[in-house]
Amino acid sequence: MQPAVMSVQKSATPSAGLYAELMAHAAGLPNDELFAQMIVSQTGGIGALPPGLGLNEAEFSALLSRHFPGMQLVVRHAGSISDPRALERDDVLELLRDHLAGRDESERWMAEIVTTACMANDHLWQDLGLWSRVYLSQLMTHNFPVLAAKNIHDMKWKKFLYKQLCEKEGINACRAPSCQVCTDYLKCFGPEE
Ligand code: SF4
Repeated sequence: MQPAVMSVQKSATPSAGLYAELMAHAAGLPNDELFAQMIVSQTGGIGALPPGLGLNEAEFSALLSRHFPGMQLVVRHAGSISDPRALERDDVLELLRDHLAGRDESERWMAEIVTTACMANDHLWQDLGLWSRVYLSQLMTHNFPVLAAKNIHDMKWKKFLYKQLCEKEGINACRAPSCQVCTDYLKCFGPEE
């Protein structure tokens, strides 16, 4: 098959054409569908991921080659800038890397991408550019199963990850003795729309 070359420009809406093109090239590996959603959203100006989904140029190129062979996207990566939240970022990344399923090498890219989205301000599925929270729950369960299984009360995923970091450090940042009696309950649970 001849490589499909698409230059990616920012547009106001996600491209059904780009999604169809990506899925036509999908390798049938874990995470193909999730990566396709993220790429389409990012190029459509939806979500908070930067060009390349937060991966460096070499990593993003490897992701494309592996998951969408024959598909080439011209993506303008931003130059490296100093990150004032680097320590926080490292902690989130380490938490995810410590819980990889170990089934597919794409899990390492997924850990980087989820970490990048954690630095943004909306619900995690929205920041990732996924099409619903259901896909985020699938992402967590497939890529970080032991960690995801700890979210037994279906806490909002970004809140859940940060609570894991607090517990790891032995910090209890919560004001209430339990979630059931906490006035912030809806900030941690409740719908993520
Ligand atoms: S609901 Fe309250 S107690 Fe439970 S994790 Fe959130 S802030 Fe902490």
